[in-house]
Amino acid sequence: MGHIQAENLTLGYSSKKVIQGIDLNIQKGEFLSIIGPSGVGKSTLLMGFNATTSILGGNLNILGTNLGTIRYKELKVLRAKIGVIFQGFNLVSRLSVLDNIASGMLHRKPLLSSIIRHYSSQEYEEIYEYMKVVGIEQEALSRCDRLSGGQKQRVAIARAIAQRPEIILADEPISSLDPVSARSVLETLKNANEKYGITVVSNLHQLDYAREFCSRVIGLNGGRIVYDGPPDQLSPATVSQIYHKEHTDHNADICFSSPFASASLLPA
Ligand code: ADP
Ligand code: MG
Repeated sequence: MGHIQAENLTLGYSSKKVIQGIDLNIQKGEFLSIIGPSGVGKSTLLMGFNATTSILGGNLNILGTNLGTIRYKELKVLRAKIGVIFQGFNLVSRLSVLDNIASGMLHRKPLLSSIIRHYSSQEYEEIYEYMKVVGIEQEALSRCDRLSGGQKQRVAIARAIAQRPEIILADEPISSLDPVSARSVLETLKNANEKYGITVVSNLHQLDYAREFCSRVIGLNGGRIVYDGPPDQLSPATVSQIYHKEHTDHNADICFSSPFASASLLPA
């Protein structure tokens, strides 16, 4: 069974259907990106996988759990298996790198030792491993507000890994970063994907990065999937269809981040 399975799935808000009747099957260990213009529903879809946006029709099955009938207790268990990374990092800025990463372990630690931030030597070892995976071990005791954007995002990835998740959902994880930091963040996600077999689904604004890092791309427009396949088979006509203005709320905004931009992906 796939890690994420959607059948005729409609997602959205009380006032509005955003994702309309899609079918999708994502297997364990995939590294996949969702692309499309602003307002098309990338975040709505991604956060649907975490049961944050509402199912308005069809079926959604995450890690073998049917989100349509899920109860609160099951939801807590499921969410512990899903790490989430945001554009704005969502770290506790006055805490150290080490404490932020350790907070990913909260769901499997006794409450008291979490509150007083007491870690066993085994937990220290584990946190150190994650720091090395994301390349932040030199900053272990630095407060997070002293770090650069790229470093903060790598701490957020380490915190997500510390959950020992089966899936990581990353909503525009590189949008606020310069190209060098963006690249290091995507390499870090790829590393986590390969080392731990974590399924990674990421919303990416930049097609060129999706092309370089992801094995599969989902293109959204008009609430539907208009492309699902390897990035190297995305034709200019399909790219044009994905970013077609008439089907979206906002202006189309393909964002290439030179120097990795590929002219062959520009719409005809
Ligand atoms: P994207 O991530 O592709 O930019 P979103 O998923 O954020 O798109 O938004 C898709 C649509 O859903 C937009 O029209 C947006 O205005 C609407 N939307 C997003 N969040 C909410 C919400 N909490 N309540 C109602 N509508 C929302
Ligand atoms: Mg979004």
